[in-house]
Amino acid sequence: MPDPSQCPTCGRPLKYGGLVLTVREDDGKRTCRALWKCATRHLWWQWSDRPDAPLETCPVPSLFA
Ligand SMILES: [Zn+2]
Repeated sequence: MPDPSQCPTCGRPLKYGGLVLTVREDDGKRTCRALWKCATRHLWWQWSDRPDAPLETCPVPSLFA
């Protein structure tokens, strides 16, 4: 899994925030997402089994931030 290094919004360094198990609507599989956050509290996540997938905005920042 590549490490995203910069926040797409503000360009500050991203810090790894752990894995979250979710169910993917695409294929119904239980799949982990890796969380990434920056110093400005932007929160992103990415499918752990899809390293080429782009970072997506985490829709529930209050759960993890
Ligand atoms: Zn940011």
